[in-house]
Amino acid sequence: MSATIIDGKAFAATVRGKVKDHVTALVADHGITPGLAVVLVGEDPASQVYVRSKGKSTVEAGMKSVEHKLEADTSEEDLLALIDQLNNDDTIHGILVQLPLPGHLNEDLVINSIDPAKDVDGFHISNVGLLGTGQKSMVPCTPLGCLMMLRDHHGSLSGLDAVVVGRSNIVGKPKAQLLLGDSCTVTIAHSRTKDLADVVRRADIVVAAVGRPEMVPGDWIKPGATVIDVGINRIDAPEKGEGKTRLVGDVHFPSAAEVAGAITPVPGGVGPMTIACLLANTVTACCRANGLPEPEGLTA
Ligand code: NDP
Repeated sequence: MSATIIDGKAFAATVRGKVKDHVTALVADHGITPGLAVVLVGEDPASQVYVRSKGKSTVEAGMKSVEHKLEADTSEEDLLALIDQLNNDDTIHGILVQLPLPGHLNEDLVINSIDPAKDVDGFHISNVGLLGTGQKSMVPCTPLGCLMMLRDHHGSLSGLDAVVVGRSNIVGKPKAQLLLGDSCTVTIAHSRTKDLADVVRRADIVVAAVGRPEMVPGDWIKPGATVIDVGINRIDAPEKGEGKTRLVGDVHFPSAAEVAGAITPVPGGVGPMTIACLLANTVTACCRANGLPEPEGLTA
């Protein structure tokens, strides 16, 4: 293996440390404790795990954590009423509605009912527009985490060729906007892209956000390129015993690591950065709400 491994777990710990320091200063100097409210509708097991983990991390960072767990059959009216209440609660600076929502709830309507200034997921249409026009916004956590790792590794990204594989609203598109904001030459690839291998081979930076296990092999990677693997896929692992599984990314790590200059592993790469950036966004939202300077290095 020749690539440098970008250790997302260690980097996320650094980000969380910075968040905690900033929270400590906010409390000591201004008597302000940033607050994050997470809303979970229904009992999706994966969502329950995420929400628990977000709450724990929020408390560890010294912030106020509020969890609202609603029944799966909660009406849209009741959910919107809760969001309205949180929008008007001065002790809450960030609101996150855990997705996916049960089918009877209109996700766009719900997300767009969050005060954009408290939209720490960065999914509100206003934040999407602000990001797209290069203005100050709340930036989606996973793309923000990838950007932080890339800036840390490269310093300046200016002029680099970046290929983002995947065009989802939560990862691919905002990631491409952020790379453009840092003056990369950006290509967005997707399921209809012709000659994907050739497109990826041009890239100094490859961001894979597809959701297909190990789809990007090493021979698609330009020697020395930086590979950011967003994918989280659970596959069977009979070598670990009957019925066992393991996590892999969208990149075939063993072959890509032979060619790349740097690469994020799965697990332990992008994943840990997502919650760290949620905490960072909550502190940023709190500072903006109170007219205070934003924490350095924790925003786009
Ligand atoms: P989506 O399913 O919303 O989007 C997948 C994208 O990949 C689509 O744009 C799709 O193209 C494209 N795609 C699918 N098949 C191919 C193909 N054969 N060739 C090229 N492009 C293809 O996924 P998400 O963006 O939500 O998530 C992507 C991955 O990232 C998943 O594994 C997910 O689990 C992971 N993830 C990880 C996070 C983390 O914290 N690390 C956070 C969020 C997601 P088209 O639009 O044409 O259909």
